[in-house]
Parts: sequence; structure tokens; C-alpha cells
Amino acid sequence: MNPVRTCVGCRQRDLKKNLVRAIAENGVVRVDLAARLPGRGVWFHQDCSQLVLDRNGFRKALGEASTAEFEAWHRQAREDAGNKMSSSK
Ligand SMILES: [Zn+2]
Repeated sequence: MNPVRTCVGCRQRDLKKNLVRAIAENGVVRVDLAARLPGRGVWFHQDCSQLVLDRNGFRKALGEASTAEFEAWHRQAREDAGNKMSSSK
């Protein structure tokens, strides 16, 4: 079984294992890396997180919800990637 989900950023379908899950809980979008949180979730590629924000992908799928926590996670993930790149110089 290879479950497939649609990315709310690029709208491409991909295997669940290549996507990150997010849910809205109490009006806040939360990244659910372990895909264990209950509730209605959406899926996206980690690389598409900026696209998700640009396209309001969460709002369409989850309704009004704050993306502040998601944006913080997104920034952190980008910083981590940047640090890896600069340390390999
Ligand atoms: Zn995508």
C-alpha cells in the first residue's frame, strides 16, 4: 500500500511519505511531522511550504487559522538548510 496525497502547495499528488502533514487545532495551523495528531489534515512537500503560504493553501483547506506557528517552523527549516550549506564550505 502506497497512500498518495495532494500537496496544497504545488497541487501535485505524491506518496504520503514524501509529504509533511499539517492540521488546524484551535485555530492554529500546526505541523504534524509524525502524522499522529487527530483532526483534518492537509499535506504538502517541505520544499513547497513557501508556495503554500503564497497560495493560502491552508486557508482553502482548513479555513481561518493562524499560520504563525507554521511560518516559524518554515523559517527554522530554511535556516537549518542554510547552516548546513554554509558549514560545508
Ligand atoms: Zn508540493
